[in-house]
Parts: sequence; structure tokens; C-alpha cells
Amino acid sequence: MKDKIPVPEQEASKRCKNFDEVCLGYGKEDAIEEAARCLQCEKPFCVDGCPVAVNIPKFIKYIKEDKVDKALKTILKTNNLPGVCGRVCPQEKQCEEKCVLNKAEKAVNIGKLERYAADNGKKELPSITKKKKKVAIVGGGPAGLTCAADLAILGYKVTIYEALHEPCGVLVYGIPEFRLPKKVVHDEVKFIEELGVDVKTNYLVGRTIAVDELMGKYDAVFIGCGAGLPYFLDISGKNLPGVYSANEFLTRVNLMKSYKFPEYRTPIKVGKKVVVVGGGNVAMDAARSAKRLGSDVTVVYRRSIDEMPARIEEIHHAREEGINFLMLTNPARIIGEEKVESIECVQMMLGEPDESGRRRPMPIDGSEFNIECDQVIVAIGQGPNPILIDQLGVEITPRGSILVDAGCRTSRPGIFAGGDIASNEATVIKAMGMGKVAAKSIHDWVKQEKLVQE
Ligand code: FAD
Ligand code: SF4
Repeated sequence: MKDKIPVPEQEASKRCKNFDEVCLGYGKEDAIEEAARCLQCEKPFCVDGCPVAVNIPKFIKYIKEDKVDKALKTILKTNNLPGVCGRVCPQEKQCEEKCVLNKAEKAVNIGKLERYAADNGKKELPSITKKKKKVAIVGGGPAGLTCAADLAILGYKVTIYEALHEPCGVLVYGIPEFRLPKKVVHDEVKFIEELGVDVKTNYLVGRTIAVDELMGKYDAVFIGCGAGLPYFLDISGKNLPGVYSANEFLTRVNLMKSYKFPEYRTPIKVGKKVVVVGGGNVAMDAARSAKRLGSDVTVVYRRSIDEMPARIEEIHHAREEGINFLMLTNPARIIGEEKVESIECVQMMLGEPDESGRRRPMPIDGSEFNIECDQVIVAIGQGPNPILIDQLGVEITPRGSILVDAGCRTSRPGIFAGGDIASNEATVIKAMGMGKVAAKSIHDWVKQEKLVQE
């Protein structure tokens, strides 16, 4: 059996000094060769692994036949953000994990083929029969954009209300340019706007406009406001100057483009020695951004590498770029007079699995040690922002997220929710999957309401 065709990348020694995309993507010949590895299974398990059920064998077959426009058209039937997903989806835990060739660890490189189709295919606007019914979408991240696109294709008048000055959520404020070029995101959103979706930016729903006002103006409301409120370490020194949340750090770097300061006017303070706390994608993005800005970076994580939630590719890239990893290490306090001078950590060992299913980290007595640093970036997770939730009048979970049923319906008729605000599984594709489910439920709801009125 043939091995995966390798995908060209920027060399680690060069890319750790710039923000250009790391992965360069397949050229035509390599894409066709990789596509030829697909067995075109009669029962394609890969599709079961895709939360939006892309017809994977079909689009791969079109790539093999050099019909890239058709490949893209196939993907777009169920996925409105293929350029994004081809770059950031954890395929190794989804479609590629299920691919039959994965038994020999040679799964088809589905993600990179999706990206090839997205980058090289031409999009065609579908024909749409317009309806009079209107839907408001709160939040323009992957969940909101997907719900909006699916409803627009069904003919609804859809308006997205987005708090920031541009839509796309984490795709523009969190994930850095070197993993997901903003041009790719902007082009995909432009296409969604061409479907007829109206995007209103600088609208913080809950402040600029109340949810009840939206309920009065629209036939249904979808909440896709994400979970962007960062958690902080509860240890001494947590408020010292030099301690950043990853969220603020990445927003400054990505959305406000501080890596191009002074061309863009938001500066960023960059430490000489930076400690990043956490083991997820957010930690990897913060660490790799700090490295590119000239810092010597160490990631500390309280479990072992096998439990790290970050995508395997990102951990691998971070290592190649010279980022130090200290596993089984937890911060105990941040030390400094007027600003961060060092961080005291304690060594951990792993016990029995906890409620997350991963082995519980436990401190080893007397194992404290210091790491000298002048900046600490905290990436230990984020949760729902109460600004909007408090005025929705819907049932919430003990974690503060919106409680939804399998159809993404909340406890309040006419309000639907999806994405990170209604799920613990923070991935782009999972948020998109929920956006799709919600669009279908909204369509059913509006039809039923219409019948009641008639
Ligand atoms: P978001 O993307 O958070 O979008 C929500 C939007 O709602 C935002 O634009 C926000 O401004 C807006 N909003 C919030 N409140 C209001 C309000 N009151 N009124 C109006 N608008 C509002 N997932 C992956 O699959 N792969 C990755 O590689 C990956 N890397 C990540 C890296 C980082 C740094 C982060 C933070 C997350 C990463 N994730 C990754 C997770 C993924 O990005 C999220 O799961 C996904 O973006 C969730 O989509 P969403 O639409 O629910 O929310
Ligand atoms: Fe192709 Fe793998 Fe899907 Fe089979 S499971 S159709 S080989 S991608």
C-alpha cells in the first residue's frame, strides 16, 4: 500500500520568524496522486467521522479525475467553510481516524484534499427561492455562519448580529495567520454574504440590542455567541503585569494585527522568556505566536503529552519550531515584585481517570521548582460570557452553557443555540454541525408556526 503523499511546508527555522502559512498545500499532481489512494469504499466509514457528513469519496474521486470545481461543489453541499476546515479540523480524530486505511496508519489525507479543492475550485451560487420569513443569528462564528448559510439557501432573510468589527469569531481573533490565513476566511464569508446573508457588525446583543427586541422582529433567533470568556489561574501573582490571558494575547496579535505594529496600531508587549500554561490548541497558538515575536517559549501542562487536547499536527509543528514542553507540570504561584519574574511550578503524576475521562493529575510533594520568565500566558480554557445568557430566559447547564436538545432547540420556543455556547466539544466542525442542525429545526419551527397562524 502506498504511503501518504507528503504535503510541502515552510521550513521550521524560517517559519518560526514569520506569520506566513506553515502548510503550503498540495499542488495538482500530488493532490491527484493522493486522491488515487482512496479505495472508494462502498460503505465509507470516513463520512461517519465527519460531523457535517461531507461526501468524502465523491469529492476525492473528482479530484482524482482533475474535476476540482465538481469536488468543491460536492463539499459545499454540506460544508460552507471548506478552506477553513481543510486547515484546522482535527481530521486525525474524525474522518481520517475512521478511514479504512488508517488500520495501517495510512489514512487518506482527507483534510489536505479538502483544502486543495477549496483553494483551487470555483464556487457557483445556488439558485434560491426567497421567502418572507426572517431569522436573526447572534454571533458570526462558525456556528452562526453555517446556520445563516443553510437558512439563506432555504430562502430565509437572514441577519447576523456580530459583536466585533468583523465576523468569523475565533477564526479571526483566535487562530493565527500562520495556521489559517485571514484571506481564506474572508473569501468564505464573502460567499456566505453573496447567498444573501446580511452581516451587521459592532452589535453586542444584550447591550446594543436586546434579545426580546430581536424576538419581536424575527421569526426565530439562533444564538451562536461562542464561549469566549477566559478562565484564569487561581494562584498568587495572577494579577502581576506580564500575565496575559491567551485570549487577549491572541486577539491583539491576530485580530488587531500587532505582529505588524506599527503598520497596524495595536502594540503588544512580548516577553524574552515566556511560559504558556495549557495543552490545547489555544496554548499551541499562543506559544507559536510568541515564538514568532522573538520569545523563548516554554509550554507547561499538568498531564502528559498523550492527554494534550491540541491537534497532533500543531504539537508536532510547535516542537519543530523550538518550543520547549514541560509535561506533568503545574504552576503553583507567579513570582515578582512589580512584574512577572518567575513562575513556581510543581511536578505532577497521573492517577485514575477523572470526570473528563483523562487520568487525574496529582501534585508530587516537595517537587516545586522555578522557571525564570518575564511573561506568563494562561490558556487553561474558556467559558460562556454571561452578558447575553442572563437575559435570554432559557435553561442553562451547571457549566453556564445554554441547554439544548438534539435539534439545538432551547427551552424558550423560537430560540435555538449551537456551537461552543451549547456544547463542551470546542471544535470548528462541531460548531458548524450544530449550526446545520439548528437551521433544520428553525425551518421546521417556522413552517409549523405558519400553519398555526393560518
Ligand atoms: P466563536 O467562534 O467563538 O464565535 C462566536 C461569535 O459570537 C464571535 O464572533 C463573538 O464576537 C460573537 N459574539 C459573542 N457574544 C456576542 C453577543 N452578545 N452579540 C453578538 N455577537 C456576539 N477548533 C478546531 O476545530 N481546530 C482548531 O485548530 C482550533 N483552534 C483554536 C484556537 C484558538 C485560539 C481557539 C480560541 C479555539 C480554537 N478552536 C479550534 C475551537 C474553535 O475555534 C471553536 O470551537 C469554534 O470557533 C466555535 O464556534 P462558535 O461559532 O460556537 O463560536
Ligand atoms: Fe476513501 Fe478512506 Fe473514505 Fe474509504 S474510508 S472512501 S479509503 S477516504
